[in-house]
Order: sequence, then C-alpha cells, then structure tokens
Amino acid sequence: MSLSLDDSTALQAPFSFDNSYVRLPAHFFARQIPSTATAPQLIKLNEALAEELGLDVEALRRDGAQIFSGNLVPSGAEPLAMAYAGHQFGQFVPQLGDGRAILLGEVVDCNGKRRDIQLKGAGQTPFSRRGDGRAALGPVLREYIVSEAMHALGLPTTRALAAVTTGQPVYREEVLPGAVFTRVAASHIRVGTFQFFAARGDTDGVKALADYVIDRHYPRAKESIRPYLALFKMVAERQASLIARWLHVGFIHGVMNTDNMTISGETIDFGPCAFMDTYDPAKVFSSIDRNGRYAYSNQPAIGQWNLARLGETLLPLFDADQDKAVDLANAIIKGYGERFQIHWLEGMRRKIGLAIAEDGDLDLIQALLALMHEQEADFTLTFRRLSASAETDANEAAFTASFKMPEAVSPWLTRWHERLSRDPQSPAERAKAMRQVNPAFIPRNHRIEQAIEAAVEDGDFSLFEALLVVLAKPYEDQPDFAPYAEPPQPSERVLQTFCGT
Ligand code: AMP
Ligand code: MG
Repeated sequence: MSLSLDDSTALQAPFSFDNSYVRLPAHFFARQIPSTATAPQLIKLNEALAEELGLDVEALRRDGAQIFSGNLVPSGAEPLAMAYAGHQFGQFVPQLGDGRAILLGEVVDCNGKRRDIQLKGAGQTPFSRRGDGRAALGPVLREYIVSEAMHALGLPTTRALAAVTTGQPVYREEVLPGAVFTRVAASHIRVGTFQFFAARGDTDGVKALADYVIDRHYPRAKESIRPYLALFKMVAERQASLIARWLHVGFIHGVMNTDNMTISGETIDFGPCAFMDTYDPAKVFSSIDRNGRYAYSNQPAIGQWNLARLGETLLPLFDADQDKAVDLANAIIKGYGERFQIHWLEGMRRKIGLAIAEDGDLDLIQALLALMHEQEADFTLTFRRLSASAETDANEAAFTASFKMPEAVSPWLTRWHERLSRDPQSPAERAKAMRQVNPAFIPRNHRIEQAIEAAVEDGDFSLFEALLVVLAKPYEDQPDFAPYAEPPQPSERVLQTFCGT
C-alpha cells in the first residue's frame, strides 16, 4: 500500500457520513440544526461501537462534548427531524415526529451496514409541539444502560454511542441536569412513519417509504412477485422474534405505541421500560400505563395490533382489489401469531435445557411459569439457577430456594428430570447451553435507579460505569459482581418507572 504525502497530514472528519434519508421527498422530514449547549461535558463515549462504525475515536475523545451536545455539527452531517405519526395507547395522533431528536446522518459500518446517528435531547424541532426538545440526565443514563445491556444479551436493539451533559437545567416536575443521548439505529423508521403518510392519503409517500425500507432493510423482498407483501411479512417475522426474545429475558418495553416500534426489528425508545424481578405476567412498571395495555404478557398481542396498523397503511400497495389486499394482510397478521408462538416456545425450551422438541414441552414450561408466579420467584435467578441444577443435583437447593415454598417445586423437578432423560445432551453440555440463554445479570431497576441517583445528585458516575461493565457480560458468572445478580431488597424495590419526557 502506498501513502500519498497528503494522507499523513489530512484532517480526517470523525464521521464519514453517507446520508440517504435526506434524499427522500422534502415532506418526510424537516432540516434542523441542533441547539447549542452552554457547558457540555462528555460523560461516556462507547469506543467499541465508535470503532465498529468506522469513526475517528481520537477525534471523538477530543471533540465529543462539542459534537454530541450539538454545538459542533460535524462535516458531512445533514441534520434533520423525521416526520411520523402514531397510535399512543390506542389513540391515533396524526403528527408526532422527532420533537427532541435530530438525525445527524448515516454512516456505513465496518460490516457494510447503514446506521443512523441521532442526537436525542438536542433542542426543539418543528415537531416539538409543546415540548422543550430537551432530555434530562436520568433518562439518558437509563437508555444508555438498558440499550447496551440489551445488545450484550444478544437482542436486536438501538445502541448507545455517547452521553453528554449540557450544563443547562431542564424543567420537569423538578429542575434536572440536561443531557443529550447519541443513539445509533439500523434506522429510525417506525410503524408510525408509514402512518404519517397513510393518514394524509399520501399513497406516493407510503410507496416511496416502502421502497426505501426494502432497499435499506429487506432487499430480498424485491425477489418476490409481491414485494410490499413480502416486506410486511418480513417485518412481522422480525417483530415476532424480537418480542419473543423480550419475554425470554423478562423485558417490559412499557410504551409499545406504534411510533415506538421499528420497521427494522430493533428495540427502540427505552423510556419507562424495565426488566422484571419477581415473575408476574401482568407486570407493569410505567407510571402512564394505567390499564396495563403494555403489561409483560400483553406485548405479543400488542405487537400484532401494531402490525395490523402497519398493514393498513400498505393495503393500496398489496393489491388494487381492496378485498384481496385485506385478505393478504390478514393472513400475515395471523401468521405473526403463529411465528411468535414458535419463537417463544423454541426459546423457552432452550431456557429449560431441551435440545429437541416433544409434544408435552409447552405444558412443562407453563407449569414452571405458573409455579414461579404463584411462588413469587425471581424470573432471572430462577432460570440461571435451573441451569446450575442441570449440571448436578447438588445445585438444586439453590434453585428451589428461589421459590417462597421450596418444597412446592419438587413435583415439577421430577417431571423435568424425567423429560431430560429423553434429551440427548450430557449434563455438562446442557448446563453450558442453558447458561448461554439464561443471563446471570440483567439491568435491574433498583441498580439503574441507584446509578442515576448518584449521577444526578452527586455527579458520581461510578455506579453507572460499574453497571456498564457487569452488564457487558450478562451470561458470565463474574463472581466479583455477585451482588448485581441479586433481586432488590424490599426497601430497594422500584415499583414505577417514568417516561423520559
Ligand atoms: P416518546 O415518549 O419518547 O416516544 O415521544 C413521543 C413523542 O413526544 C415524540 O414525537 C417525541 O418527539 C415527543 N417528545 C417527547 N419528549 C419531548 C420533549 N422534551 N420535547 C419535544 N418533544 C418531545
Ligand atoms: Mg418514541
């Protein structure tokens, strides 16, 4: 390889932007320069992710506070706020849009994947309605922790590239330190983005968006004789898999409005989300979810409801005959339910250590879940300890101790052992496989709250940093961090979580 003389001295921009969304029709977005911050400070830069995105890490270490606060718009960025609509708790709102988020642009990562880089909390946009366009430090840290934990758990998710404080207050119920979160996503296109155009009778807009999405996320849809139907089916498949995986790790999104459901199949918008401690299928954390619409076990059905809303927007593209279009869409919506069930059962089988399928497995799994619910067992600990029990009976006492009345689990354990005797794996293999799907560490709510409190009250980010370290390897035992695996003490329990707004 030869270097030209200039290469050694050339000033490299931290991002090699390659923007495509900004080439879409003008009514898809509003160009918007981020607001400035008075005294920005870089709290965290995700250097591993920056490398993966092909960014200049050194430049970001140096200028990150300015860039990630919005003070310095890096060269090549074409900042914009995206237009979208959405059903919020079942009510349609024809215009939402990025009210506090600004897409800086897109980069192509080291795997050739196009990724959005977005500042969240960088000031008002034409979509802000009555909001201030700002974010508070607490929700920024929460999104940073939980999205990175999701990634380490192996679930599709938006990522955290950076967090900065702005030096300015934001006014909520109280005065809080302001911050900006830099989010990376496969794209920020949501079900609500399609709804924005459909609600305006703008079929050309829906089609332009669908074509863009096929090119960017689902190029194989082009091979189908009905590409838009293929697109819909592929989105349904990704959502069926994603929501099944949420259930496998005890995740409750909290605000599954159609504007918070991506077309790419990544988890997005970590507002009042939480991982549950004690297993309860009806569990709700979000302070604004009064009727439990987005409760843990409602999530698969809500996913289906949201997909039906997406299907409605695409009907004119499915078939010129409307009845035919509706039938085609309905078949996929129904198929989502079946695909969800398959993904869920497959994952649950793995969680209890089964490598091959048998007819009675669903029963066995449901019996365990019913016991966990009745006996107030911690979701994560139960499965992690079951993994250890698969290795040797000596570990069984720790497993049964997860239940209020340990003796109540004995009949189930007998059934389980009997079932395992027909499964091919050795105990050591099985325990290893189970540990790879049953995390020891999840971002427990009380730990997140403690980290946020220390940061907001005392400017102490050590708990935030420690959480990031432990949650980066959720499937490893990490004895030094043993207390992080534990559920909260009664006094530490967090009963409600709040939106970032
Ligand atoms: P979210 O609850 O984050 O999904 O946001 C729902 C809608 O409210 C989106 O259109 C956001 O852009 C908007 N929004 C949330 N917080 C703010 C804020 N502080 N300022 C302006 N718009 C906001
Ligand atoms: Mg949202």
